[in-house]
Amino acid sequence: MPCQSNEELNRLVSEAKKHTKHGEVADYIPALKKANRDDLSVAVYHSDGNCYSAGDIEQKLTLQSISKVLTLALALIDCGEECVFNKVGYEPTGDPFNSIIKLETSRSAKPLNPMINAGALAVTHLIKGESVADRLERIIAFIRDIAGHESITYSEEVAKSEFDTAYLNRSLCYYMKQDGIINENVEELLELYTKQCAIEMDCLDLSRIGLVFAMDGLDPVREKQIIPVEVARLCKTFMVTCGMYNASGEFAVRVGIPAKSGVSGGIMGSIRNRYGIGIFGPALDERGNSIGGIKLLEMMSKQYELSIF
Ligand code: GLN
Repeated sequence: MPCQSNEELNRLVSEAKKHTKHGEVADYIPALKKANRDDLSVAVYHSDGNCYSAGDIEQKLTLQSISKVLTLALALIDCGEECVFNKVGYEPTGDPFNSIIKLETSRSAKPLNPMINAGALAVTHLIKGESVADRLERIIAFIRDIAGHESITYSEEVAKSEFDTAYLNRSLCYYMKQDGIINENVEELLELYTKQCAIEMDCLDLSRIGLVFAMDGLDPVREKQIIPVEVARLCKTFMVTCGMYNASGEFAVRVGIPAKSGVSGGIMGSIRNRYGIGIFGPALDERGNSIGGIKLLEMMSKQYELSIF
């Protein structure tokens, strides 16, 4: 059964909203504290170009960890698989996204996967360009191309707020510098990473990006292959195994949709050959995932039979 009505989505959003009161907005990045805990919106972008939505879909969110999928794609395009997986591994960690413990205790010095902060920092390190500004411009241009939206940019306020308080991410960088995983200036890498995480868009843009991954890198609206098929598939695999942090296993069982979340409350989902989903719901559960967003995806998965399993 396809998802083809705003009314139906409105009903699901109202139902999922009941759960937002059990969550909290992220506060370790001070600028994210301003979000409204009760907001919940969704856009579903179909491969035929139709889009259905519910909630205030014009509200903007910053990508945060969702950006990790996009920089992984760009790094794979920039340097190839061998070079990327020289720096990061393939395995889920079972630890929180910002944990430092496996950098010390796992046998290899590499961060375990590209979706945890350490792994994402190592991937961003690989993005090519002459300067931080140039590399950021390349990341933004890549995202604009995928979303088909020329005015996408980043929030200076959110980027600065994270940069000023990124003590843990700084520690991850120094740890990796010690082990030779990264060799650039830590402040420069953090500047690039925090700006990448602060790239802003609305649910509609997010659903369009989800659609491009759903179509294995093809934008069906413009009939343009934006991401190579094998790169898009590889990214989607990480969305399944590590996309929802250390809740990815439970999410696979209960929802079964390749998805990536961010601490702003965003979730991007990709339903193979059918549609992309963009969700914004800033109330988070204890593992940092949008509580209303997960509930909504769980209901959508059941209602429209979306699980890949
Ligand atoms: N910018 C955030 C951080 O590094 C991204 C983390 C997330 O969304 N889980 O902490």
